[in-house]
Amino acid sequence: MATTATTVGAKVEVLPNYVGGAWRPSKAKEFLDIYNPATGEVIARAPCTPPEEVDEAVRAAKEAFEEWRRVPPAERVQYLYKLKRLLEENLDELARTITIECGKTYQESVGELRRGIENVEVACGIPTLMQGYLSEDVARGIDEFLIRQPLGVVVAITPFNFPGMIPLWFLPYAIACGNAFVLKPSDKTPITAQKIYKLIEETGLPKGVVSLVNGAKETVDALLEHPDVQAVSFVGSTPVAHYVYAKAAQHGKRAQCQGGAKNPIVVLPDAPLERVAKIVAESAFGCAGQRCLAASVAIPVGEAAEPFAEAIAEEAKAKKVGFGLDEGVEVGPVIRAEAKARVERFIQKGLDEGAQALVDGRNAKIPGYEKGFFVKPTVLYGVPPRGEVAKTEIFGPVLSVIPMKTLDEAIRWVNEHHYGNMACLFTRSGEAARKFRYEVQAGNVGINIGVAAPVAYFPFSGWKESFFGVLHGQGRDAVEFYTQEKVVIERWL
Ligand code: NAD
Repeated sequence: MATTATTVGAKVEVLPNYVGGAWRPSKAKEFLDIYNPATGEVIARAPCTPPEEVDEAVRAAKEAFEEWRRVPPAERVQYLYKLKRLLEENLDELARTITIECGKTYQESVGELRRGIENVEVACGIPTLMQGYLSEDVARGIDEFLIRQPLGVVVAITPFNFPGMIPLWFLPYAIACGNAFVLKPSDKTPITAQKIYKLIEETGLPKGVVSLVNGAKETVDALLEHPDVQAVSFVGSTPVAHYVYAKAAQHGKRAQCQGGAKNPIVVLPDAPLERVAKIVAESAFGCAGQRCLAASVAIPVGEAAEPFAEAIAEEAKAKKVGFGLDEGVEVGPVIRAEAKARVERFIQKGLDEGAQALVDGRNAKIPGYEKGFFVKPTVLYGVPPRGEVAKTEIFGPVLSVIPMKTLDEAIRWVNEHHYGNMACLFTRSGEAARKFRYEVQAGNVGINIGVAAPVAYFPFSGWKESFFGVLHGQGRDAVEFYTQEKVVIERWL
């Protein structure tokens, strides 16, 4: 889905880049409109930063790296302690910004920031986390040890749906490990990152250690092709994740690329179905279904089918849809008019494939927000398990219900699916839970959990087409990703 490119001239703010410790207007020829998706208004413009300015940012980062890597880790993390404090103090302002540019509710924005801050906290443990190890006397009088060193300039390319949290999956670990970091935020929600960077500036972090370049494909390509970029972290849709992974490899860089999802929740008849329906509704419709861990398929097994379908339809109908800063709103808009049109097309596709709409959220009219990009929660019952709708990530508040006869049948379906981001099971049976956890092919597994999002000291996993790479974001994986191992064999004659 393209974001409209416009020429300069209109009166909204044009976002600057942050290069070498200074805010700089870009000399870009093309700019991207940034919307408030609840009102449909353009609220800012972001430059499509050209390759020569990307080069300046990477060169400034490289220069800063030479000094930064020599700063002791315990001193490096002092800037992160300050950042944590500033993020807490500015939580309200940041949450409002997320809601305004991304559409999710204020509470969802606060939750996202809490998850981001958690990563800053974990990265403060780098002095311990990046320690190496040593063996004395691998041969007589010879010792051998492993040390972890930073890579150099590393970049992150992030998606629209968590503009506060996802940059913080990477930035704190990258710089705590001694790297210089360049962020290319989403071309649809770049304002939150600007505000976070202003807070980073207040910490007094040495110039050039972090930079920010706005843009879309051309800017990403310039980063991927740059010889001084050592590593790439990407989060976004699967086709782009695959493209970035392949291109990073072609240019000799390490990469971790998180992609899209189609997350199933299996519900066994012994689970407390009304309570489960509430949890599944929150997972499927929260953030307007625009979470990579949103439940998009519910698989009620056996006699759970009918009562679960009834309960989830009630939950969907009851959700209050609107602008996320307004009182009582539970579901915001989707990100763009094109996203709304696409989601509505998939609802129609589901009906064409033979499903029944228990709740149809198309043609939503929200008083006062007639130009917003709203789709109300939708429940499609009896979606064919091997059809287009069951296969495709819709990324909107649409839950497909696919009843199945047995847990084995459900696990088989999950394992055949090309995505493997999350899979959840609701049951009271320990035996069923163990079987599911053991057999299911997905990176994040929830047992009686609706959004199985790992905390910051665990990796954010992902399998199959939901992840390309070896080391994931967050936790120890992040430390390994952002450091290279040096093994020293030492003897004193
Ligand atoms: P997207 O793939 O459109 O964009 C992601 C980033 O890539 C953005 O910074 C964008 O500017 C850039 N980009 C877009 N097209 C590009 C191209 N052709 N070449 C190079 N760069 C390009 O994703 P999105 O719409 O911003 O985000 C939603 C997607 O992200 C969903 O598929 C969702 O499942 C996924 N996501 C995954 C995770 C996860 O952890 N697996 C987390 C959040 C979101």
